Amino acid sequence: MEDTTLLGWEEWAAFPKLGLPAVKAKVDTGARTSALHAVSIEPFGPMEKTQVRFILHPIPDKPEIEIVCSAPAVDRREVVSSNGERELRWVIETPVRIGDREWPVELTLTNRETMAYRMLLGRQAIPEDMVVNPTLSCAQGELSYDLYKDFPRRRPVKRPLRIAILTREPNNYSSQRLRDAAQTRGHVVEMINTARCTLAIDANDPKVYYDGKPLPVYDAVIPRIGASMTGYGMAVLRQFSMMGAYCLNTAEAIGASRDKLFAHQILARSGINMPVTAFAHSPKDTANLIAHVGDAPLVVKLLQSTQGRGVVLAETKKAAESVIDAFRGLDANFIVQEFVKEAGGADIRCFVVGGRVIATMMRQAEEGEFRSNLHRGGTARKVRITKEERVAAVQATKSLGLSVAGVDLLRSATGPKILEVNSSPGLEGVERSSGKDVAGLIVEYLETHVRPARTGKRKAAARTPAEARAEPASSQSE
Ligand code: ADP
Repeated sequence: MEDTTLLGWEEWAAFPKLGLPAVKAKVDTGARTSALHAVSIEPFGPMEKTQVRFILHPIPDKPEIEIVCSAPAVDRREVVSSNGERELRWVIETPVRIGDREWPVELTLTNRETMAYRMLLGRQAIPEDMVVNPTLSCAQGELSYDLYKDFPRRRPVKRPLRIAILTREPNNYSSQRLRDAAQTRGHVVEMINTARCTLAIDANDPKVYYDGKPLPVYDAVIPRIGASMTGYGMAVLRQFSMMGAYCLNTAEAIGASRDKLFAHQILARSGINMPVTAFAHSPKDTANLIAHVGDAPLVVKLLQSTQGRGVVLAETKKAAESVIDAFRGLDANFIVQEFVKEAGGADIRCFVVGGRVIATMMRQAEEGEFRSNLHRGGTARKVRITKEERVAAVQATKSLGLSVAGVDLLRSATGPKILEVNSSPGLEGVERSSGKDVAGLIVEYLETHVRPARTGKRKAAARTPAEARAEPASSQSE
């Protein structure tokens, strides 16, 4: 008998791949299959590689502890219980650890809320060299539900995630790279076009409809919201967040970074060095505005400018005045800014993910041009940044509350000056010139931030310990 392992009538089990450190199982050789408690069971992913996601309350008398799990589905099977009830159940395969042994088991997923044990270990899942001795309890040692105490905690999730990329350009380089990086890591990615989403505002059941059909709960949403969709994109993102998804950048942070005036105010308040800037909306007093920033040359920018389109260099005071007069005529919001000549037509893009600069590039303007935008003929190349630049980029990102950002800065005689913080930075230029796997690093960051557990607000009818101990007879017959 020395090579056999003894199992009692109840044992503590762990499921490393599901992220479950402790589940108390009833061992029942009278049952053929094994079952795991699961609610909100939801299949996702392609037909030939279906995944199932489900929520489990591992602690019978603490229904507020919810763990979100997902695993590849191996089957869908009809299970008949002894009272004749038939149920079509998803079947997953995952390793179980009991004592110091670990082996793969098939588990059917079913709601065991009314049963004392969250798991039933049936005979098919018990290896041949294990012997069940029904007079023993926890022959393989004790675990404790205390292991759930620090949930949710920051650690990479190993389960396949259902991720939505919120974009109107599913085929552009950035969207494709993010999708590929996530799929390579076993996640399922759906491209959601912001413009095709409809929102159902309901306090108890917020939903997003896509071409009329309700969208599922995503584990994570990667917002890639274009400037033209900021307002609506933020609303859609907020809705996903209310439904329980982790959003890579929050709607609030995106909103703050898109509002250039607000962003400048936040950055200034956080003590971040920027070119001296004055804001105006059709000012009457052009001379004062110029005086505030300093002497010519000056840069005048339309606030809604992208890709350098509305950015003008006024070499003389006279030129500055006429540009400002022109913008005034347009009734537009604009800024007047100190021209950082020493930058030499170059700016630096720092790609920040989770408080770290993960990639950088330097963009150099064409001969005779001060705007380094790639759309204006600028070229990108590799660059090493200084510690000061690194700190400034990270600080700027943090002050706006962004997790992922592209920070543009100028190298000035008095250190880095932040130009702009972009909440949906493109991946192409920076991946090509730095050689870094930016998409992969973003997905890795996401894995460490998707909530492994949710503390539900449900107040499920708590059962007395006595009720919990009394396992109903019907449950033993699977
Ligand atoms: P946009 O958002 O339209 O790209 P930016 O403010 O980023 O406008 O300006 C475009 C480019 O012009 C920058 O990448 C930078 O090379 C150059 N630039 C902008 N502001 C200044 C400035 N104050 N001093 C020197 N160069 C500047």
